[in-house]
Amino acid sequence: MRAIVKTERGAGAELRDLPVPKPPHDGVLVRIKAVSICGTDFHVYNWDPWAEHRVKPPVTMGHEWAGEVVEAGPECTSLKPGDYVSGESHWVCGHCLQCRIGQAHVCQNTRIFGVDVDGCFADYFAVPEASVLKNDRRVSPQVACVQDPLGNAVHAALAGDIIGKTVAVLGCGPIGLFAIAVVKAVGGGPVWATDTGDYRLDIARRLGAEHVLKVPQDDVEAAVAQGTEAGHGVDVVLEMSGAPSAIQQAMRLARPGGRVSLMGIPSKPVMLDIAEDVIFKGLTVQGIVGRRLYETWYTMKALLSSGRLDVTPILTHRMPFEEYAEAMELIRSGNCGKIVLTL
Ligand code: ZN
Repeated sequence: MRAIVKTERGAGAELRDLPVPKPPHDGVLVRIKAVSICGTDFHVYNWDPWAEHRVKPPVTMGHEWAGEVVEAGPECTSLKPGDYVSGESHWVCGHCLQCRIGQAHVCQNTRIFGVDVDGCFADYFAVPEASVLKNDRRVSPQVACVQDPLGNAVHAALAGDIIGKTVAVLGCGPIGLFAIAVVKAVGGGPVWATDTGDYRLDIARRLGAEHVLKVPQDDVEAAVAQGTEAGHGVDVVLEMSGAPSAIQQAMRLARPGGRVSLMGIPSKPVMLDIAEDVIFKGLTVQGIVGRRLYETWYTMKALLSSGRLDVTPILTHRMPFEEYAEAMELIRSGNCGKIVLTL
């Protein structure tokens, strides 16, 4: 089978011919139909300091996928050949404290497909049953494969009240854009969306964001003050950029008593005025990592199946599997939403 493999401790990846794996005893072998590229894959491909610390080549890349079960292991009970499936990127342990009390998204024994163990950028993918979810056949593989990052956005947006709430989404990378789509689908908004690039702000506008602001040129705090009750700020801030300036701004954009959900990952510590910007404002500040397992997946499935949530404006490029290097360069340029590779 074909596989995109991180073969060396350095930038790049190779298209390799590998043997088709066996399904795990408690899992399935999936024939992959579509995969999408995560920022994490981009970090692994570029071999940045995080990847250098974490990844041990050789490893088959990728963790966002949709496909069809072709073989089930002997102890697999819930899946059979022909099932149309996708899966969670975090392979959690199932026995730690967090896993056992319904917080498996912060399992400290998590292994990530395509990072710590072989991933899905291949014709076939062997995956444990516990990480697999059945898709609605009305949802195409090109959409079904993005559920892992879409789930980050669902988790972030729905981590508190959102219906009828004013919302700022800081950072319009694919997950920020997904978040705008989710907020609008469930009756949140108006939405203030910020980013540094016109390409992604145009998508934000098409998704229905009422206020689209380019940073650093536009005065985001003034725009939010002008459009919110008594100029006090938005009910909810979804921080998706990881930029230190945006994280600091997130605290100021939220109204007193509001919520700030932080998902973007800063590369170094960020200074905050905890007294003025968090405590005296009575903010709820929460870290968002991964997806609630598996609550987020079922909520997302319902939103996609109902047709209420349409993420297709964010899926800007569909490319053949072999053109992964071109896809990585597109991501580097910033002139793309989510890129799907088809097999
Ligand atoms: Zn665990």
